[in-house]
This record gives sequence, C-alpha cells and structure tokens, in this order.
Amino acid sequence: MSSVIDGKSVAATVLEECRAEVLELKARGINPGLAVVLVGEDPASQVYVGSKVRTCGDLGIHSQKIVLPASTSQEELVAVVRELNADPSIHGILVQSPPPKHIDEEAVVRAIDPRKDVDGFHPENVAKLALEDKTGFVPCTPAGCMRLLAAAGVKTAGAEAVVIGRSMIVGKPMALLLMAKGSDATVTVAHSRSHDLPAICRRADIIIAAVGRPEMVKGDWIKDGAVVIDVGINRIEDPSKKSGYRLVGDVAYDEVAPKCSAITPVPGGVGPMTIALLMKNTLQAARQLGSATS
Ligand code: NAD
Repeated sequence: MSSVIDGKSVAATVLEECRAEVLELKARGINPGLAVVLVGEDPASQVYVGSKVRTCGDLGIHSQKIVLPASTSQEELVAVVRELNADPSIHGILVQSPPPKHIDEEAVVRAIDPRKDVDGFHPENVAKLALEDKTGFVPCTPAGCMRLLAAAGVKTAGAEAVVIGRSMIVGKPMALLLMAKGSDATVTVAHSRSHDLPAICRRADIIIAAVGRPEMVKGDWIKDGAVVIDVGINRIEDPSKKSGYRLVGDVAYDEVAPKCSAITPVPGGVGPMTIALLMKNTLQAARQLGSATS
C-alpha cells in the first residue's frame, strides 16, 4: 500500500514558516515585497498570478501586480523590469511564463537583477545552484519536490533517482538538487530522446515525472516500493465535469500508486508547493537585500 504525499499540508507548513519569517523581517524594518508581471491575457497565467498575489496578501508580503497588454514590446517589458530592479520596496520579481510569442523570454530573465530573481531562472542563479552556493535562488517547483521528499521521510542518499524531463524550470534543477551534497542521490535524467524509458524507470527508487504528457508513466514501469513525484499538470477532456475537463499528472496514478511506497497526487501534490517555495524565495531575497542595505 502506498502512502499519499499531501502537498497541501506540506505547503501549509512551509507557509506557516513564511508567516513567522515575515514578522521577524518586519521587526527588523524589512518589509518584503514581490512584483509579478503578467503580459497578455492567458487564462491559466491569470489564475497563477492571482494566487501568487493572494498568498502574498495572506502572509503580509507586499505585492505589486503589473498587467501589460499582449502588444507590449520586448523593450517596454525590459524597461518595466529595470524599474522594478531599482525599486527598493521590491525584493522579488517574476515575469509570468509564457509571455506572448514575440517576447524573448530568456532576454527578459537576464534583465532581472539576479538578487531579485525569485524564480531562479537567471544564469547567475543557475550557476549558483550548480555550485551549491546557497545564496542563489532555487527554482520553486523542484525545490518544492525536494521538500515533499523530506516531508515523506524519503532517504535520497545513495538512492537511484530518475528525473523524466530536462527543462530549465523543472528537470535540470531537479537533477542538480538530487545529486547535491546532503541529498546524494545517483541521478539519471531521461528526456524525449532517451531509449527504453520504461527500463530506465524500473531501476529507480525515486521517480520525478516532469514531462507534460498525461498519464505517460505506467504501472509496469515502477519498481516495487519506489517513490513517485508527479510534477505534470495536464488538462484532459472529461464530459462528466462541469468545466468539461479534469487535471491529471504525467503518471497513470491508479496503476502506479499500488506499486509505490509513496506518491504525490494531481492535483494536491507538487502544485501547492510551487507557490509556497516562491514565498520562501521572496523572503530569502528580502533577507539578503535587506542585510546588504542595512
Ligand atoms: P517542458 O515541456 O519544458 O519539458 C518537458 C520535458 O519532457 C522535456 O525535457 C522533454 O525532453 C521531456 N519529454 C517529452 N516527451 C518525452 C518522452 N516521451 N519521454 C521522455 N521525456 C520526454 O515542460 P516543463 O516546464 O518541465 O513541465 C513539465 C510538466 O510539469 C508540465 O505538465 C507542466 O505543466 C508541469 N509543471 C508543473 C508545475 C507545478 O507547479 N506543479 C510547475 C512547472 C511545470
């Protein structure tokens, strides 16, 4: 029987830690602030931005939501980022992904002051993660996955971990975190060109699925007792739902769960952790910038 790793409950614990940290920072005269920039009207992005701003409000973190029209040019967006870089009331900046197609997302990320890059996507923070320099920002989703593993009491040292997906947002930073000192897993990164993914997965004590393909990871890919973290968020049609769709992960939950020792559900697994870790990163930025200026 597998245990279900409750992301909502672990995220609530992280947010309580944040709440205490906000009070402590404010007592030192540091009022943490996060700016969220949304370009265009992508409905999923609007939902994500809304919940980031709401969570800030709930914790007493100052937030600034900047909504720009889809026609905003690259130069205009970079100018907004530069203003936020210079704004002392803002410690964290994120530009909601994906921006409209005419925007070069990488160039925008590079324009963010790395000390305010709470998504952890700036090359300086990517380098710091590889160097295991804790002053950098770790991307929120993989940081959340590590926290879920810890909360579930999973021993990573020496474990065979397979990360499926090599994106800069999830797969690559996830692999770096799993292999870092203190975690000490033996890591394999699989991707779209990997041969015989089921055989690679069957070796794994820990599987992190970050592919973006609904229910791709099947029950017979899983070694008995493995731990499975499902990062995927996929909409599939479901006429029985009022919305006409439901969310599933990258893992075929019903057949995988009985073989695992622990598994995250979708929704309610990794999803809630991403926002919680964004709040953590914002407080880290406020602490670091606050100490630098005080
Ligand atoms: P991405 O599209 O950038 O990367 C997907 C990766 O999967 C690529 O590296 C690709 O090589 C690999 N891949 C594709 N097909 C494959 C196959 N058949 N076999 C093996 N590997 C294959 O996606 P991403 O941004 O890393 O996101 C992955 C999933 O995680 C998506 O469903 C996304 O919605 C979800 N996600 C969830 C959260 C969260 O908060 N829970 C955050 C970010 C992403």
